[in-house]
Amino acid sequence: MTCSPPDLDFARLTGQTEAHLVPGPGGVLVHRQVLEPLQRLHRRAQAAGFELTLASGFRSFERQMSIWQRKLRGELPLLSRTGERLDVDALSPDEQLQALLRWSALPGTSRHHWGTDFDIYDAAAVPAGYHLQLVPEEYTGDGPFAPMTQWLQQAVASDSGEGFFFPYAEDIGGVAPEPWHLSYRPLAQQFLQAFEPAVFQALLQGAGWPLADSIAGRAEEIYRRYICLRPDA
Ligand SMILES: [Zn+2]
Repeated sequence: MTCSPPDLDFARLTGQTEAHLVPGPGGVLVHRQVLEPLQRLHRRAQAAGFELTLASGFRSFERQMSIWQRKLRGELPLLSRTGERLDVDALSPDEQLQALLRWSALPGTSRHHWGTDFDIYDAAAVPAGYHLQLVPEEYTGDGPFAPMTQWLQQAVASDSGEGFFFPYAEDIGGVAPEPWHLSYRPLAQQFLQAFEPAVFQALLQGAGWPLADSIAGRAEEIYRRYICLRPDA
């Protein structure tokens, strides 16, 4: 690969190395340059009465591929746009791909591959042993994590969020809104910029893709809408 700087090579962009990671809070793997900003944000949250906790950080290419395959085999629920469980066998390959992309990034393109992005919750708002579901109801309205979410949204808007932001705050017709997904922008932006179309093409050249024809047919749209997070022009 010649299209990206040496420290952001293909393996690092696509979740196929852990060389840039360190154990973060709770043992969750994070990019080593995110550790300090994360600790600063945690202290700010603590002062406001929240226990900002990571449910997940880095996720490997293999893990993401395994999620896709289990959904296609029916071992994990494949959900519709609005969250109802779908019958995999009743769907065309294009429809399966559409449903997968709504909730689970194409393996190799997940922001969780970078170590810059996290799923978070407020451990102070729920009893120990609480079963986290990562659904919007937990983060809005009367949900247990709504107060911390609002506090974080205000911190981001007022530039006191230590560089973190919510990349999936809005539904642009691609990835479903994820009010729990937090990203460290200064670093994530570098990964995103390095993730040029040539990187995406190289990723798709790899062997063993499920739904390969459907992915190839929609490659341009996947790149624009699900990686660059750009709505339709
Ligand atoms: Zn996430």
